Amino acid sequence: MDCIFCKIVKGEIPSYKVYENEKVLAFLDINPANYGHVLVIPKEHYNNILDVEEDDLIEITKAVKKIAEILAILLEPDGINILQSNNPAAGQVINHIHFHIIPRFVNDKVTFHWEPNKLEKKQFEELAKRLKEELEN
Ligand code: 5GP
Ligand code: ZN
Repeated sequence: MDCIFCKIVKGEIPSYKVYENEKVLAFLDINPANYGHVLVIPKEHYNNILDVEEDDLIEITKAVKKIAEILAILLEPDGINILQSNNPAAGQVINHIHFHIIPRFVNDKVTFHWEPNKLEKKQFEELAKRLKEELEN
């Protein structure tokens, strides 16, 4: 499969690896949003949050927390964003699930901006009801 991140896992493309275990690999983002921007991926290829195996997702999440804790100590950022995008419409460029860990500093230039949508009370109620019903099944 022609996947850049699979190639990074196999060592066919170089990367600045910062952590790995049997299931996951973490390396520096080549175009960092900020100093300390790390990507965490499963070694197995999954496209996104919809097809990733739960066991792998748990391992990814554990690694994200571990790395965030170390970044917090090493870089002393003012905050940290965890970002994960699914499909091009959501901004996913690399089709191998990945979590961004982005250290944040007061007055840095990173932005995540959206205009809030307005929903009527009825729309909130109906949406919550539909979701709740499906999630309870
Ligand atoms: P996405 O937009 O899919 O959530 O994020 C993909 C990320 O992968 C981007 O932040 C981009 O800088 C990073 N990236 C793309 N190609 C490479 C690469 O070959 N090596 C590394 N280390 N990062 C990459
Ligand atoms: Zn892949």
